Amino acid sequence: MQTEVKKPIRKHLQASFQRIQKEVTMAKKVAVIGAGASGLVAIKTCLEEGLEPTCFDRSNDIGGLWRFNDDPEDGRASIYKSVIINTSKEMMCYSDFPIPADYPNYMHNAKILKYFRMYAEHFHLMDYIHFKTSVCSVTKCPDFTTTGQWEVVTEREGKQESAIFDAVLVCSGHHTNANLPLDSFPGIEKFKGRYLHSREYKGPEAFQGKRVIVIGIGNSGGDIAVEISRTAEQVFLSTRRGSWILNRVSDYGYPLGMLSSTRFFRTVKHVLPVSTSNWLAERKVNRRFDHANYGLKPKHRLFSQHPMVNDDLPNRIIAGTVIVKSNVKKFSETDAIFEDGTLEKNIDAVIFATGYTFDFPFCDELKVNNNKVSLYKYTFLPELEKQTLAVIGLIQPLGAIMPISELQVRLATRIFKGEKLLPSASDMKDDIRKKKEAMVKRYVCSQRHTIQVDYLDFMDELAELLGVKPNLWNLLLSDPKIAWHVYFGPCTPYQYRLTGHGKWDKARETILTQWDRALKPMKTRTVDTSGDNSIIPLVVFGFVLLLAAIFYF
Ligand code: FAD
Ligand code: NAP
Repeated sequence: MQTEVKKPIRKHLQASFQRIQKEVTMAKKVAVIGAGASGLVAIKTCLEEGLEPTCFDRSNDIGGLWRFNDDPEDGRASIYKSVIINTSKEMMCYSDFPIPADYPNYMHNAKILKYFRMYAEHFHLMDYIHFKTSVCSVTKCPDFTTTGQWEVVTEREGKQESAIFDAVLVCSGHHTNANLPLDSFPGIEKFKGRYLHSREYKGPEAFQGKRVIVIGIGNSGGDIAVEISRTAEQVFLSTRRGSWILNRVSDYGYPLGMLSSTRFFRTVKHVLPVSTSNWLAERKVNRRFDHANYGLKPKHRLFSQHPMVNDDLPNRIIAGTVIVKSNVKKFSETDAIFEDGTLEKNIDAVIFATGYTFDFPFCDELKVNNNKVSLYKYTFLPELEKQTLAVIGLIQPLGAIMPISELQVRLATRIFKGEKLLPSASDMKDDIRKKKEAMVKRYVCSQRHTIQVDYLDFMDELAELLGVKPNLWNLLLSDPKIAWHVYFGPCTPYQYRLTGHGKWDKARETILTQWDRALKPMKTRTVDTSGDNSIIPLVVFGFVLLLAAIFYF
């Protein structure tokens, strides 16, 4: 009797096991190139979608750019020891893994790496990464038009291996190759001092007591000029077009992105003429310090350039330790002559904070021309017969890269699974063309402005394809409180986990508590605010005003 009951159960279990086994063995294999911020979320999302990821990173650990090393490593981005991120924690985290409440809003690179380690540990990602393994080539298999498969050749300790993958996620970063435009600086070959790219800069020690020129006014140039100027004899910050400077610490001390990246402000910005938005933003930053008086005012408008975020630069300029100069016209053995005809003598060092170029030497399909690519949503190649390759994180947002990489990966993995979420090839090409035209119209011509995206707009574009963009009207009817936060509050990544595929149960609660997490790390001392709202000063002020009016008339 007993065996008779057990038999069907065993049979059923066996069938289920075989089905699961079949599903596992049939899981599509995905190669993930790079284990930085984009690669980690790529592995995690593949696992969630039932795909089988294999990640290769040429380095010996995770973190990509955010893992500081004393010496720059070939093929991996390299940062200086003091780098503090300029995107705040609530805006830069992965959408279902908030950064701990006690972490600062703007984190030092070591803390960012710690967050990535927590993420990798929590989602068990390390088992899928092959370190010290470079991807040498990614080529279409001969039967690509039917299978969409790729041959990936890797190299580890001088030994090459080849494997076939059903799909590839390219997460190799775009801040690795130094742009060192020596041709634009005649005489540099005769210059007897030291010159280097910001990629090689690690800290200020070597520049103590020296006269240093920093060329380029991106975020690297600003950070490095400020840091060196504390101990150098003199720092000159040379720029060919100037820059508007934004602050991490915004109104009332709140993080900039949390105030500016809201759906409400986006509506206002879209309604206003561009010139008015520029005028308002420029007025605001000029109220802190007049950019013309500080030698920084560019000819272009504020929204026409990737912004510099630097709270310290005006302090260093007003203290005279940083002097803003025009572009360098030429160098002699010891001096620099600037385009405005001025001369600075006895220069010890020149730091080229002149940005980066990027390419994909391992994949012929991914063509790059002067930092320009033709990818739909900076992710997909429209002309591919099978959509089994996606580039992740190849964007320069006015905001954080990480949540955008996450949405790109969420979209790509579903496409790899066969869902038809992309428009036709001709529509994709049309979108690429329109984006290029819009970029040329909006931004000053520079090779740093080729993959610019607006954080909120771009996240919404990806989310729309994916079907996870929050629907404000539905929210308003079903949950007015969250609708209010989604529209007027910061567009934090959790918004894209409220509905649809990949919905996260804690998204609502995490949105409602985002300001608590933002304020927690600063509230380290109990402060008595009970008297702050007293109306007595207002009454006294009104009374004095009244007296003044009586006496006057
Ligand atoms: P990366 O972090 O560059 O990682 C790429 C990984 O791919 C590396 O580990 C590399 O070893 C590996 N790899 C590359 N090629 C191969 C290959 N052929 N085979 C195997 N492995 C390979 N972004 C922000 O959002 N906010 C900020 O405030 C911010 N600050 C920045 C500060 C500095 C100084 C710089 C330079 C950049 C900053 N960025 C910032 C941009 C930065 O690129 C992203 O934050 C983020 O690091 C991108 O992650 P990623 O994984 O796409 O690329
Ligand atoms: P970048 O943004 O590309 O800036 C490069 C600068 O060099 C620009 O001012 C550019 O001027 C100038 N330049 C380039 N070629 C030149 C030439 N031939 N002659 C004169 N000037 C030249 O590079 P970056 O500052 O290294 O920043 C790279 C990325 O890292 C950005 O996304 C940035 O936001 C990020 N970053 C963040 C932090 C942080 O979070 N703390 C710190 C550093 C960097 P034009 O504008 O005229 O081209």
